[in-house]
Amino acid sequence: MKCKVCDKELSGRKDKIFCSLHCKNEYHITIRAVTKSVASPLDKILHRNRSILLEIMGSKSHKKKVLRSELVKKKFQFKFISPL
Ligand SMILES: [Zn+2]
Repeated sequence: MKCKVCDKELSGRKDKIFCSLHCKNEYHITIRAVTKSVASPLDKILHRNRSILLEIMGSKSHKKKVLRSELVKKKFQFKFISPL
């Protein structure tokens, strides 16, 4: 088996994936950066939508009928809804 990051031949445990702690950290730092760059704009929209709903509903109610126009006015993005 070879290191997932640098392709160096691995020795030791059979389930080893990385040759060193440096490669392991490098791998996770890269994965986190890529995930963040993809998820960040979506997170922003979801947070904004959640704030709009919290503003309209308050923190105590779970259901409320709201006119679509009210949500549109607050720039709610209907395409992006997350489960509770
Ligand atoms: Zn390596």
